[in-house]
Amino acid sequence: MAKRRVEEDRRLLCEGCGYDLTGLAGEGDGGRACPECGRGINESKPVHRTGTAWQRIGGVRGWWGSLVELVRGNQQMWEEARVGWRTDRHLALFNAVAAGGLVVAGLVTNGIFGTSFREVAEVTVVVLILFWWVLVHLITTSLVLIMIWIEHVGIRFFGKRRGWRISEGVAWTVVGHASYGWLVSGVLCGVLMLEPVRMNMPWRDMELPFLAGHIDGYLITLIGAALWGMIVFEICVYLGVRKMRYANPPTITQ
Ligand SMILES: [Zn+2]
Repeated sequence: MAKRRVEEDRRLLCEGCGYDLTGLAGEGDGGRACPECGRGINESKPVHRTGTAWQRIGGVRGWWGSLVELVRGNQQMWEEARVGWRTDRHLALFNAVAAGGLVVAGLVTNGIFGTSFREVAEVTVVVLILFWWVLVHLITTSLVLIMIWIEHVGIRFFGKRRGWRISEGVAWTVVGHASYGWLVSGVLCGVLMLEPVRMNMPWRDMELPFLAGHIDGYLITLIGAALWGMIVFEICVYLGVRKMRYANPPTITQ
């Protein structure tokens, strides 16, 4: 299978302003600074990027560690993130599966404690409900993955137009770590799946005049809940891109 040849940009750039530091970063350059913005050259070297919790530890502990970094608003994590770390895509996948799982958790809770199971006596119906849960998980996970994938294409496209260096690796590192944002959608939509929450929404049956008969207040609330996660995701991507637009990959030549 022919592999597409990718021209990798291996110049050492100043991570503060994007100035090309090639030739300036030799041996014994400890105190030297970027001629353009004054940032220390050593601070732009890839060794400076020691990895986020997810990249360093991995697994559930690493996943939790990076979530904490993100929730604390720790901008440092984008300075520490290794560019194009091999498990960054796994993080996106993991968070997409988790977001879908949170929605289904709401459905399952509703099924067990709500009316769904009490009203059905037939096995076939129970099987159908189980099938429905799996289907909902697949659909929500896929939707989140598609949004993450589109975002990774998007930041590469806009980055190129702005003269940034958003490589494939940078893009996945950013969207992978920003994908925690989708958990907000998962939590909010999962809560909306709970029957008491739905029944107590005063506007649940309200039909919107311009969409009469097609969409009601509940569905609008559900879409709104999903959008909150997208907003958090987009904010994280924005912060990540701002810090990593000139990030140096471990493969650069100095
Ligand atoms: Zn600079």
